[in-house]
Amino acid sequence: MKGIAKSLMVTLSTFTRKPVTRDYPNYHRELPERDRAFPLLLWDKEIDEPFCTGCHACERACPVECMTVLMKDNPNHKSNGGDSSRRKIIDKFWIDYARCMRCNICVEVCNFDAIAMNNTWQGHELSVHDRKDLVMDLEQLLVQSHVGAIKEWVPVLGQSNETNE
Ligand code: SF4
Ligand code: SF4
Repeated sequence: MKGIAKSLMVTLSTFTRKPVTRDYPNYHRELPERDRAFPLLLWDKEIDEPFCTGCHACERACPVECMTVLMKDNPNHKSNGGDSSRRKIIDKFWIDYARCMRCNICVEVCNFDAIAMNNTWQGHELSVHDRKDLVMDLEQLLVQSHVGAIKEWVPVLGQSNETNE
């Protein structure tokens, strides 16, 4: 009898306890601004063009060779009557997210602050039926920065080892 009462008490206390799990995907916890999903390209809102010059540095440094970069002459360069000081600009860019291991090396080697790790849930929730759909093109890589959907974070020297708390 005592045992039954005891187990009922356990049942009751569990029943009234606050859940430790989250109602995902209905509820998303806020991600830290330095969260690392997959890399995407950044949009220069001042000049209204991508920051990326297509210099190939990230493509050469990527350990799994999942990036493809093609550059072109920038039609918006000052020599053509435009506003941009970028002589070359990105023409085509693909990243195969199915192969990317999210190492951040492409971000570290970029001299133009043109690429960043996506720090939103859109960067994580990428389930597809066909892995070919995980090859992102230039438009897909730029859209989130273009519409201001990512929290842009510029690393400051000496802060890179701080926690996200
Ligand atoms: S995060 Fe790493 S693996 Fe992914 S594209 Fe950049 S360099 Fe390549
Ligand atoms: S993202 Fe940076 S490193 Fe990669 S091609 Fe563009 S400018 Fe060069």
